[in-house]
Order: sequence, then structure tokens, then C-alpha cells
Amino acid sequence: MSSKKILVVGSSNTDMVIKSAHIPKPGETIIGGTFFMNAGGKGANQAVAAARLGGDVDFIAKTGNDIFGKQALALFNAEGIHTQGVLTDAAHPSGVAMITVDDKGENSIVVASGANAALTVDDIKAQQALVTGANMVLLQLEIPMATVEYVAAIASAANKIVVLNPAPAMPLSDVLLQNISIITPNEHEAALLTGILVNTVADAETAAHILHAKGVANIIITMGAKGALLFTNGQFVFIDAIPVTAIDTTAAGDVFNGALVVALANGSDITAAVRFAVKAAAIAVTRLGAQASAPYLNEVENL
Ligand code: ATP
Repeated sequence: MSSKKILVVGSSNTDMVIKSAHIPKPGETIIGGTFFMNAGGKGANQAVAAARLGGDVDFIAKTGNDIFGKQALALFNAEGIHTQGVLTDAAHPSGVAMITVDDKGENSIVVASGANAALTVDDIKAQQALVTGANMVLLQLEIPMATVEYVAAIASAANKIVVLNPAPAMPLSDVLLQNISIITPNEHEAALLTGILVNTVADAETAAHILHAKGVANIIITMGAKGALLFTNGQFVFIDAIPVTAIDTTAAGDVFNGALVVALANGSDITAAVRFAVKAAAIAVTRLGAQASAPYLNEVENL
């Protein structure tokens, strides 16, 4: 287990996944897909990925008082995640995501946030010791923006390493960006945050410069099957993806982020941490599911 404590603050969803020949168009019905159900949500996926890779992980999240919430809590405990911060909301159902995966491994997702949208600043204030007790804090954007901004502000003021995976894509305030140590957008998110179309590595470099100018010290733009671009200390490093046959890219980014914080918690420099994350994510895309696809430490070490 890593010596440094990792706090993940984010969403927990139950993913209802159907694998089918193609993603249906509006009004289209496709018969013949395979169905499975899995615990998901970007926060939970990243917490599970970090725990499987040996991270000492606390998780702050909110589920409904229903079967999905109970199942999620049992799974977090089974993964060795500290669940003191996993709260139950009597008023809202647990979050649910409907996911379609086509035969090329591409996905389309609709999320009903439920209790995730009720994780408030007051909930964080009640769990403040988890923030101050952590060495690094990992955030995404499937909980209210005010909550993300508050966690980033108090963690940054306490000199924690704050990692933001800005997913799903949405505009961010300058204050939030200034409280982030490392931001990890994919190409689409980087484009939305900067106004630059990000298709090539040169585009990603331009986007990274813009994010750096907004006050983020370290930028990692994940570029799917191409790999990831790192901007740190005024230098670019491009880390190629590991060539694999992708069957489901769901949670590739989540495994990447979970792995990144574990490597940093274990004392890796940021370049080595990105290399580790690229390896972990390559394994994840060869497997179906969100949390189910997250690899264990020995699998990444043996790649
Ligand atoms: P998702 O939303 O599907 O979870 P994402 O869009 O957040 O993922 P990506 O940039 O697609 O993130 O992928 C994250 C990382 O996963 C990439 O930087 C890369 O290292 C790895 N990866 C993604 N797709 C592939 C692939 N087809 N082959 C190998 N590695 C991959």
C-alpha cells in the first residue's frame, strides 16, 4: 500500500451496459446485444483503480438509500477503499448510467446523477478531516461544481496535490484552475476548456500552453489510442499508448487517473507516473466494464 494517503471525491453510479453491433440512432431499436451491470461513476472507478494498484484510498461520495447504493458500498469495502466518507441520501436515488458499447469498443453514455448531484459543500465540511488528512486529492466533474471548487480550494490551501480529471467536459472557473496541481483532460475536454480543436499532438501542445497560462502547473492531455501528452516544468513529453486490441474503452481515463495518483503517492516523478498510468489504461481497454476493467498492480508491473 502507498505511504501517502489519496482522497477521491466524486460520483458513484451503477452502469447498465449493452454491447451491440452499433450505437443506436434516435428512434432505432437493435436486438441482440449482450447486457451486464456494473458499479461505475468516474469517482468510484478512479477510487477502485487506485485501490487495486495499491493506493491507500479514502472516498467521499453520496449514494441513494437503495439496492444500488448498498451494493456499491459493499464493493468499495471489498476493494479495500476507506468508506467513512461514502454518505447515504434518503431523498435521491443512486446514480445510474446507461452505456452502449459498439463492436469497435466505442461507447455512448447517458447518466442520471441522482444522489451524486446532492453531494454538497456542507457534506465536505462534515468530512473535512478526510481532506486535511490526505496527501493528494483526485476530483472529477460528476458532482456539483460548487463542491469540486470547495474541495480544490481547501486542499490547495493546505498544500495538497490536487488532480482534476475535468470529465465530463464543461467550462471551469479561473479560481478552480488556479487551485489545481495537475489537470488531465482528454482531447474533447481539452478542446472545450481552451477553444482549440485537439486532434494532433501539436494541437494538444497549443491547448496545454493555454491551460498553463490559466494557472495550472502540470497538464496531461490523454489522447486515446495515441497516448498522452505531458506538460511539466516548461517541457513537453509525449508518452505513446501501449498497442493493444481495445474491446471497451469505458473507464480508460478513470484507470489512467487512478494509476497516476498511486504512482505519485509512491514517490514517482510525474513523467514516470504518466508512463505507469498509460500502462494501466492499456490493460483496462482490453476488458469490458468500468471498475471491472481496472487492473491490479502485478498486472501493470508484468506488462
Ligand atoms: P474514457 O472516457 O473512454 O474513459 P477518456 O476519453 O477519458 O477515456 P482517453 O484519452 O480515451 O481517455 O484514454 C486515456 C488513456 O488510456 C490514453 O491516454 C491511453 O494511454 C489509454 N488508451 C485509451 N485508448 C487506448 C487504446 N485503444 N489502446 C491503448 N491505450 C489506450
